[in-house]
Order: sequence, then structure tokens, then C-alpha cells
Amino acid sequence: MDGAMSFNGAKYDCLLFDLDDTLYPLSSGINLACRKNIEDYMLKFLHIEESEALGYEFDNDEFHQYVHGNLPYETLKPDPVLRNLLLSTPQRKIIFTNSDKAHTARVLSRLGLEDCFEGIICFETLNQAKDPRSKLQILCKPSVEAIEAAINIANLDPKRTIFFDDSVRNIASGKAAGLHTVVVGRSELIPGADYALRSIHNMKEALPQIWEVEPRKRHDHVRRSTAVETAVRA
Ligand SMILES: [Mg+2]
Repeated sequence: MDGAMSFNGAKYDCLLFDLDDTLYPLSSGINLACRKNIEDYMLKFLHIEESEALGYEFDNDEFHQYVHGNLPYETLKPDPVLRNLLLSTPQRKIIFTNSDKAHTARVLSRLGLEDCFEGIICFETLNQAKDPRSKLQILCKPSVEAIEAAINIANLDPKRTIFFDDSVRNIASGKAAGLHTVVVGRSELIPGADYALRSIHNMKEALPQIWEVEPRKRHDHVRRSTAVETAVRA
């Protein structure tokens, strides 16, 4: 970790958070239900097994509606502890998820975190219809290209950004893209992870440096303008 101070007086400029199974625990059951819906979709509409689906072209809107349309959102409850933690950090905070905009808004609303983030980079952000590349290849984590795209969209300096994600592959790619990395949902380090957090609630104990700000700069938080779309509301 470098010791230089940044524009906000802290060692880091930005906290980049995955959404699913990172800001809420795997035990919510959302992930299991989501995987089941993906399998159902593949079988019902594409007549293929999920393992064969890489590179397959399908209707993204229909896919997301089917997969995220009937998840057990009621299992997600407001999380005031996480909300206070997030709001107390001096950094920019951005969501970076493969999920679609509607699902992201719904989850953040259920958790009571919808106003904690400066922006959201979601499926639609990385795969806009006007992008001719989207016809050829869907851009999403864990590809390093997707992570580099997010870095560009949010105008991040990877060396001053901490990336939180529960996925082993996403963490490895995040490290390859030059980010500081925190694997969430496990206590053991994995390849490419700088830190491991059993729960996102442990971030202050494990990463107190996030809150370390030079006293004279404590009231001098300057926000950079970015191309990140404004936070969506449910
Ligand atoms: Mg995740």
C-alpha cells in the first residue's frame, strides 16, 4: 500500500463494491434462487445447459427479467450498520455489478442503501445497445476487460481504489487490473486478495486505513465529476 495522501486527504479515492453476496450475505437465499432461475431460463428458452451458454447470444432484457423478476427480495432487510459504515467513509463509493439496473435498485432499496453510492456500474452500463461490440460479446466480470472498462467509466486510479467482491475469479481479475482487493464472505485470503472479510460489516476492523484522513483535510472533500450514471432509485 502506498502512503501518499489523495484529494480527500485519505489514502484511497474510491471504494468499488460488488452487490450480490457482498453487500448482503450469501445466506439471504437470493443467490440460490438466482442460480435456479438462470438454469431454468437456459433450459426453457435456449434448450441448453448453463455450462454451454458462454458466448451464446440471447435477449438480455428477457434474461434479466426472468432471472431477477421473482427473487425472494423479502429476505433482504434494511442494514443500518452497513449504511452508517458506508456514510462515514470519506471516499467515493460506486457499485460495480453484473446484475441489471432494476435488480440493483431493488436490492439497494431493500437494504436501505440507495443513497450511499455516487454511481452504479451495472450490466446495462457495460453493455449499452449502441455499443456494436455488445452484439459480439457480453462484457461482464470476471473479464479483466470489464474491470478496466469500469475503471475508465468511473475515472478511477486503480492504485487508489479498493475493490470488494465475493467472487474468487472477480478478485483475481481485479488484482490483474491493478486494484486493491478485498474478498468478502470468507476469512481466508485467496489468490489476488489483499484482505479477506467474513462480512462487509467487518470492514472497519480489517481496513481502518479507509478512515485515516489528514486532520487539516478532513473538511475538504472534493468530488470529481465522472461519467458514472447517477444512482438509480427503486
Ligand atoms: Mg457477488
